[in-house]
Amino acid sequence: MSKPIIDADACIACGACADACPMDVIEVEDVATVANEDDCVGCGACADACPVGAIEIED
Ligand code: SF4
Ligand code: SF4
Repeated sequence: MSKPIIDADACIACGACADACPMDVIEVEDVATVANEDDCVGCGACADACPVGAIEIED
């Protein structure tokens, strides 16, 4: 299953990825983190939503 890799240095904590995630597995405090990787379905919506390209989807 593909998983998002979030670049904490690039993240501006805007919350767009968390809003876009259909599984609600991303939490944003100082930076975005995948709070519950087991529920991630690898759809890539978070990466598509990120305005600064901080999320890559890796296998
Ligand atoms: S890949 Fe899809 S399910 Fe996984 S964190 Fe991103 S938006 Fe959510
Ligand atoms: S969409 Fe990108 S910049 Fe915004 S909180 Fe998520 S990872 Fe960070």
